[in-house]
Amino acid sequence: MIITPSQIIGYRNSVGNGSGFNGYNATTGEPLPTIFHEATTADIEDSINLAHQAFPAYRKISAAQKSSFLDEIAVNIEALGDELLTVMHQETGLPLPRLTGERGRTTGQLRYFAQLLRNDKWRNIITDGALPDRQPMPRPALIQMQVPLGPVVIFGASNFPLAFSVAGGDTAAALAAGCPVIFKAHPAHPATCQLVGNAIAEAALKTGMPDGVFSMVHGPSHQTGEKLVSHKRIKAVAFTGSYKGGKALYDLAAKREEPIPVYAEMGSVNPVFFLPEAIAEGGETLVSQFAASITLGAGQFCTNPGVFVLMANENSEQFINQLAEALSSAAIHPMLTKGISDAYGDGVEKQKKLSGATSPLKNLANNNTANLITANAKDALTNPEYFEEVFGPAAVGLLVNTYEEMFELIDNMPGQLTATVYAAEGDNQISGELIEQLTYKAGRVMMNNFPTGVEVCDAMVHGGPFPATTDSRVTSVGSTSIYRFTRPVCYQNIKVGLLLA
Ligand code: NAP
Repeated sequence: MIITPSQIIGYRNSVGNGSGFNGYNATTGEPLPTIFHEATTADIEDSINLAHQAFPAYRKISAAQKSSFLDEIAVNIEALGDELLTVMHQETGLPLPRLTGERGRTTGQLRYFAQLLRNDKWRNIITDGALPDRQPMPRPALIQMQVPLGPVVIFGASNFPLAFSVAGGDTAAALAAGCPVIFKAHPAHPATCQLVGNAIAEAALKTGMPDGVFSMVHGPSHQTGEKLVSHKRIKAVAFTGSYKGGKALYDLAAKREEPIPVYAEMGSVNPVFFLPEAIAEGGETLVSQFAASITLGAGQFCTNPGVFVLMANENSEQFINQLAEALSSAAIHPMLTKGISDAYGDGVEKQKKLSGATSPLKNLANNNTANLITANAKDALTNPEYFEEVFGPAAVGLLVNTYEEMFELIDNMPGQLTATVYAAEGDNQISGELIEQLTYKAGRVMMNNFPTGVEVCDAMVHGGPFPATTDSRVTSVGSTSIYRFTRPVCYQNIKVGLLLA
């Protein structure tokens, strides 16, 4: 497939004359032939000004038309056929079945938001009727509803080249809310971004959306993203990626003359608490399921279980030995990028040094193969580095001697996207208390399920307290993610007929 690299500035394409860069074949490490260019300052300025101009028109476009736009994006992505999968596979090394599944999830998300707009429920309309006879003062009629924020900038992550990228959940939610979107293409999969960006632009044109409702700019340096986030016409930022990137953009936005919300969804270690009866009953099946969760997608998942906690006893010792065995024979997949592979190697070395001094070390292999270490939970209390994400198939087992130690660990644990309790009937009493405590540390608390796998539905919360995200009040997956791109307005003494035109 021939890919024409360009910035998408509304309905105009611009090659950009910033520095050239290329994607890499993730499996071979070889550079791919297409040369992309970093967006120029003028490209960025134009995309934002167009989005600003498009906002008044786009927010007034009927919900039915917006639904058609989202549906059409899904149709265009499907029309790219297997060639899109081939390009994605080249750039990420992710296996084709996984990428096929991700495509289905992405088009499903777009259609899900199209469906959400088919009635006004998402606007959360709250009415307090007029009380003209109230004493000592009459009350006017009050109506609260959600309105879109304005032009937003979205960043995607390397590990989901479709579902958390150009036409991913953030873009679908922002467009559904009525916000024009400027997407910062991910330099690890620029060709995939290009194909999907074109699919959105074509859908916008076909369904009569205003010029500037969608733009996409490339940039291998942080400057492109920084310029976007700093621009005064941008009203919010959605980010999926590393803690370092998310926090840097959050800080940048906070320093603006007009600070704006930054919804940064970052990494997490997603602790799993195995209670004694669950380990005794689960046996090797539980071990192999856990090993599969740790190594899924070479461990490159934000919901990857990087830390597990268990009571020190004979059963848990056996569990760890069996887990070590299962991980040592896990298949090795190419990592997404050389940078991620190097960071994984460094992270594993750091973990080895951390635990080596005080605990038995169960290191299985070197870089890019699964790694397992164990430590006493007490060490983790004084050393928060145990809770830092190592993006890849690495797991840290923390051993406690009492439930008090387990609760102390939770009390000192940083915020997480997910937390899991594995319990059998004999563990019931303690599992209730654990779930209560974990509720205040994670966005999704689950029992006897592994955290990898995030349903797209109304009840989903994919978020959590800092440092998992920069705003624990919202989710980045599911229908309620639309509220990151809206704000409430109260209309006082205004006739309903004048609203929701
Ligand atoms: P990343 O390196 O942070 O990159 C994400 C995007 O942000 C890229 O476009 C990157 O482009 C940009 N960026 C990063 N640092 C920046 C900075 N200081 N200023 C401006 N832009 C910046 O993350 P990644 O390696 O792609 O993704 C892996 C991470 O994402 C893992 O930590 C994983 O857990 C997390 N993740 C989280 C979720 C979630 O839902 N919470 C989902 C998937 C993945 P440039 O580097 O070119 O600027």
